[in-house]
Order: sequence, then C-alpha cells, then structure tokens
Amino acid sequence: MADTADPRDDSLPEALRFRSPAPLVDIGANLTHPSFAHDLDATLDRARSAGVETLILTGTDREHAEQAAELARERAGLYATAGLHPHGASEWSSSLEAAMRELHRRPEVVAVGECGLDFNRNFSTPAEQERAFEAQLGLAAESGLPLFIHERDAGARLHDILHAWRDDISQAVVHCFTGERRTLHGYLDLDLHIGLTGWLCDERRGHHLRELVGDIPLERLMVETDCPYLLPRNLPAKLKGRRHEPALLPWIVREIAHWRGLTEAELARATTATARRFFRLDAADDNHPALEEGN
Ligand SMILES: [Zn+2]
Repeated sequence: MADTADPRDDSLPEALRFRSPAPLVDIGANLTHPSFAHDLDATLDRARSAGVETLILTGTDREHAEQAAELARERAGLYATAGLHPHGASEWSSSLEAAMRELHRRPEVVAVGECGLDFNRNFSTPAEQERAFEAQLGLAAESGLPLFIHERDAGARLHDILHAWRDDISQAVVHCFTGERRTLHGYLDLDLHIGLTGWLCDERRGHHLRELVGDIPLERLMVETDCPYLLPRNLPAKLKGRRHEPALLPWIVREIAHWRGLTEAELARATTATARRFFRLDAADDNHPALEEGN
C-alpha cells in the first residue's frame, strides 16, 4: 500500500507539516478519545511544532472529564472542560452533579461542558437533554465558569433556554457552530461566543458558513479541531482519511481567514486573544499545578 495513506499511520509527513504564523488555541480537542491512547505525547509534540500551543481538552462525561483534567494537571498549556454531552444526558443524576461540581473546582478545569442539546440524533430524549443542560447551567451560574456548548438541530430551543439563563451565567461558546444565519444572529444577540471547526472546509455541507464568518465579531470567534472527528476536507490528498488532530488546526485557520478576508496571522492572533480571555487562561495559569515550578 505505497500510494494510499494508511489511516492507522498517524505520523504527519514532514513535507506536509504546516505551521501557524502565530500561536493558536484549539478550544475543542477530544484527546481522551481511544484513538489517541497510543501516541498522545507525539500528538502533543506535533501540535506544538505546528504552533498550536494551547489545548482545551473536551470532557463529555464523568470518566472523560476526569481523564482530561488529569492530563491537563500534568502538562503546561493543557486545560480541560467538565460536563455531560447531550448524547449521554439520560445518565444525569445527583451523584454525577456532585462529581461535576468537584471537577469544576480544579484549577485546570476552565469551563462547564460539553453540554447542550442535540436533536439531530436524540440518543437521549429531548426532555432528558433539557434537564441535564439546565442542571449544568445551574453549575455554571454557581461556579462562575464559562460554558462550552454543543448544539445540533436545536438552535431555537437552545436560544430560549439560554435567554432565560443569560443574566445568571458568565460567558458561553457554542462550539462547532454549523447552523444558519438566523441562529447565528440569535446567539450573537445573547452575547455568546462562536467556535468554528473544519466544517467550513467542507464544500458539500459547510458552504453556507463561508458567507456567515464575516458576521462573527473577532472578539467572539474561536477555532477548534473537535478532533478526532471532522477532519478538514482542504487537506492535501496524502492526508485524507487520517485521524484528525490538533496539529492540523492551521489548515482550518487558513480556510476561515480566507473567507473572512484576513491574513492567517491576524486570525490566529485574534482568536488566541479571544480564547485566552474567554477561558481566563492567565488566571488559570496562576494556579495550574504543572506551572508551579516556574512561578
Ligand atoms: Zn460537540
């Protein structure tokens, strides 16, 4: 198989490495996914070489949030979120709520989530999803942490719920935004942040987003891989079919910058400043266990 990339071969060919002109923050990396278990350190090295210096590891349930927090505790530049994804919302319970509250007290945990609504697949019923989401909004209100929100085919309902909670929570980002103009403007009117992935690089289904990126103020826009999912489709042929990883974030930034009429460096600097402010990373660094030696 000399010509086609083996999807199990996760090393990135040297000639195809692409470095960001300015440091990036990947606000959504699912590095506790089993596909990273065998080469996590190499994955982090490749991210750093590509200029992706800071990663927010997504915690989608108790087990993964604890793993993400543990990885973040051990390494500078890594932070975690802790929440319950809408797919698993039927698992919400008072003991899970207590475990999440504990996680949110850890200095390396910088957001409540991934939480939200997904009416596309309804792995949990809409009623279960709303119950778990409202409980996590309560945890965000209590802790003051920002929210990392997932929404698919549930924009109107999510907007209504967030509207009711808006004064009680600090900040929220709707990650991997893929919706329509009206949904986007509804979120922006609620003073929410928007996370964009490689969805925009997909000419089949991401086309409508290309016209919308200019509507998102730079101080509300952040970038993410959502790896290992959503491999961008603008990669050179040799990279197609491989696992998505943080080192490929510069390819997504290139595409967004193009459609927003900015240089890659301008977009990189702006989204990094926004992410550092949104997740309060300077304050998190003051208490980050992995940085105690230096400070
Ligand atoms: Zn998501």
